[in-house]
Amino acid sequence: MYLNSPVEEISFENHTFYLKRDDLLHPNFSGNKARKFYYFLENDFPDITKIISFGSAQSNAMYSLSVLAKMRGWEFEYFVEHIAEYLKENPHGNYKAALENGMKLTVGSIKSTDDLDIDTLFIEEGGRQKEAEYGIKILAQEILEWQKEHDIKELNIFLPSGTGTTALFLQKYLPNSVVYTNPCVGDSAYLKKQFLELEEDEKTHPTILSLEKKHHFGKLYRENYKIWLKLQQQTEVVFDLLYDPLGWRTLTAHPEVISKPILYIHQGGVLGNESMLPRYERKYGV
Ligand SMILES: *Cc1c(COP(=O)(O)O)cnc(C)c1O
Repeated sequence: MYLNSPVEEISFENHTFYLKRDDLLHPNFSGNKARKFYYFLENDFPDITKIISFGSAQSNAMYSLSVLAKMRGWEFEYFVEHIAEYLKENPHGNYKAALENGMKLTVGSIKSTDDLDIDTLFIEEGGRQKEAEYGIKILAQEILEWQKEHDIKELNIFLPSGTGTTALFLQKYLPNSVVYTNPCVGDSAYLKKQFLELEEDEKTHPTILSLEKKHHFGKLYRENYKIWLKLQQQTEVVFDLLYDPLGWRTLTAHPEVISKPILYIHQGGVLGNESMLPRYERKYGV
C-alpha cells in the first residue's frame, strides 16, 4: 500500500491553516495508526500468524490493528480489562468494525510478553513503540516535499497527542520546524515521560502546549463539543471527538504559534465518533 495524503487550506475563526488529511489515506487503514503500523504492513514477517494487543474496547488502535491483521491474513486477539454492557449488546464504532474484521476479544490481561511464541506479534497499547518511526518518517517526508513545492520557508506543525509517539517521531524528521502538541491523556509531565521512553535526547522532543484547566480523557466537555461543531460548520471537515477538540482549543489559545504558517495534522479516528457523538447529543442536544 502506497501512502500519501493531501494538504488542504482551511479557514477557522478567521485564520488560515494548512491541514494534512491523514484521515483520507485509505478507506479502512488511515490516520496516524496507519502511519504507526505501516512497518508491520510493509515488511516480511515469515513466522508471524497472530497479533496480540490490549487497551480500551473503543480504541482507534484496536480498529486499525484489526484492519492490519485482515490485510495480512493474521489472527488478532485483543485484551480489554472491561467492556461496557451497553457496547456488548449494541456493538458500534471501532468495536463493531473490529469484530467484523475477525478480532477475537478477550476480557482479561496478557499474562506476559517475555516469552511469546515466535508466531505472535505483540503491539503496545496505542502503538507506542519504535517501529512506528518507519511510517511517521514517511509522513515527515511528505510534509517536506509539499513545503518545498509551495515554497513555504518557515512552518509550524501541530497535532494532539495520546502516547506522543506520532509527535515525537515527526519532530525527529522535521528538524527545521517546531512540532507543537498537547496532552490529551494525562498532563504535560505524563506526556514528557512518554517522550523520554522513546527518546532520551530532550533536545529533539516536540514542544508541549497545554490549557490551564485539567482534562480527563474520554470525558464529555461542552467546550469540546462546541469547537467540534464549529470546526465542522466553518471547514466542512469532520474531526475526531477525543483528541481534536482539545487540540484545536489548545492551538487557538496560542496566537504566537499560529502567527507563522501552520500545518495541523488530521490523524483520523472518525469512526470512533459513532460512540462519542450520541453521548454528546444526549448530554448537550443536537
Ligand atoms: C491515536 C490517536 C492520537 C494519538 O496518537 P499518539 O501517537 O498516541 O500520540 C491522536 N488523534 C487520533 C485521532 C488518534 O486516533
